[in-house]
Amino acid sequence: MGRCEFRELIRESHDAGKGPAILRIATSAEREPLSVIQHSHGATELVGMPGLVVGARQVVDGEVWVYAETEADVMGCSGCGTRAVGHGRTRTFVRDLAVSGRPTVLCVSKRRWRCPEPDCEVNTWTEQVAGIAPRAVLTDRARQRITEMVNQDGDSIASAAATFGVGWHTANQAVADYTDPHVDDPDRLEGVEAIGVDEKRFLNATPTSRTRYTTQIVDLDRHRVLDVLEGRSRDVVGGWLTERGTDWCENILLATLDPSAGYRRALEDHLPGATLVVDHWHCVRLANRAIDQVRRRVQNET
Ligand SMILES: [Zn+2]
Repeated sequence: MGRCEFRELIRESHDAGKGPAILRIATSAEREPLSVIQHSHGATELVGMPGLVVGARQVVDGEVWVYAETEADVMGCSGCGTRAVGHGRTRTFVRDLAVSGRPTVLCVSKRRWRCPEPDCEVNTWTEQVAGIAPRAVLTDRARQRITEMVNQDGDSIASAAATFGVGWHTANQAVADYTDPHVDDPDRLEGVEAIGVDEKRFLNATPTSRTRYTTQIVDLDRHRVLDVLEGRSRDVVGGWLTERGTDWCENILLATLDPSAGYRRALEDHLPGATLVVDHWHCVRLANRAIDQVRRRVQNET
């Protein structure tokens, strides 16, 4: 809806004598001409942010801009408990979950409050909105969605960032904030009985550095990554198993690995009770390669 159409709608609403439920004057997206926010129950339900009422929606450069404001009209001072008085409003812009597949910006008009007690130290403050951290550029649920896109849907940080119209570092920080507590949780290592060990090419070679590999250690029963280690040597895996301690290592009954001697020695050294198995994928690849070699030899001979 263009700004003119929107004004038209407001005028009609006034002419019909209905009057908007909430009427505020607010600067527009470009902060030039004024537009009016009108409380829309439908849009408020749709946006579903606690404590916010939603009015106008606009499309600005292909993005949906949703105008919302806080609804509290009684506030106590956090310092002395006296009933605060309104001290104007301030506006913040945060990116939220996409509406109809389009990047969405929440333009939130927050209230400033003032304590009328002359001796109170609190003076003035701006109210906070649940689900939007102070000075955040993304709502909490948008940050959570970015994390799901990267961790569960397999999107790259860059594509998740583009979906929300934010920079790579902002998206990466969201993923780190939601993911690190899980990565660091020692409970992830509890009760593991079967592990898989395999290498992955992590960074391709450049003119100044060689290809870098990591070793992935996974829980085969729960289908979870337990750790990612830099390097792919016997010492790397051996060091990790040493850190786990002998009780943990004795609990491991099965370990799969790619057919590398370094991994095999590390697992033999540290996992006394484990059966070592070459993993399915590498086993099939070796078998295919062997059959190819035989076929080529037979074809050459006949
Ligand atoms: Zn006070």
